[in-house]
Amino acid sequence: MENAQSRRDRAQALEQGRVLFAQECEFVRGAADLAGIPPTKFPEVAFAGRSNVGKSSLVNALTGRKTLARVSNTPGRTREINFFRLGERLMLADLPGYGYARVSKAESAKWTELIFAYLAGRPSLRRVVLLIDSRRGPLPQDIEVMDLLDRAAVSYQLVLTKVDKLKPAELTDVENQTRAESQRHTAAHPELVATSAETGTGIADLRANLAALAIR
Ligand code: GDP
Repeated sequence: MENAQSRRDRAQALEQGRVLFAQECEFVRGAADLAGIPPTKFPEVAFAGRSNVGKSSLVNALTGRKTLARVSNTPGRTREINFFRLGERLMLADLPGYGYARVSKAESAKWTELIFAYLAGRPSLRRVVLLIDSRRGPLPQDIEVMDLLDRAAVSYQLVLTKVDKLKPAELTDVENQTRAESQRHTAAHPELVATSAETGTGIADLRANLAALAIR
């Protein structure tokens, strides 16, 4: 049972999330290679996921801006890491989507190389938010990325997307399956957030989680 204190803590965390994401969000730069990655003095959170997982929609829903991360109609096209700054408090890095079927082996190797170089050389990186399509649950390519993050010892958190498409029982199933997968990984954060960019489900919770990583 939730007591009064934990209800107050929760309300406070949600409020901190709201305030953080009400800050001006400014596009900093797109980086196609390691040289393009901007230096930063802010803590950073990176968003990763398969192409079409709903990453652009989620970043837009979090920041409350419609056009910040372009919702791509051609999955697999964006090969850059896009950096955004939330006031003077947090940097957001939108990583290129992976796993698009029509992308060649060479392209996909380039993804891994850029991401690994980024992960290894980014001491400001506090967490990766790894998006999982709730209609599919963790797919083999998602699990490969989880293994990569484990190896790089980067703390990450799984977030389900598009939960508006599921019936409650289906959501429970995929939550259980996703939690079970995350328990098999050393660097995975135990908390799972179920979101919908469409209805706003879970957006305030995810903002609250990320606010804990920002500069006060
Ligand atoms: P990205 O490739 O990961 O950036 O994915 P997008 O944000 O471009 O979304 C891919 C597709 O999924 C688009 O057609 C979106 O309209 C749709 N989509 C994204 N988020 C949601 C959601 O929360 N609910 C529903 N029903 N559709 C979504």
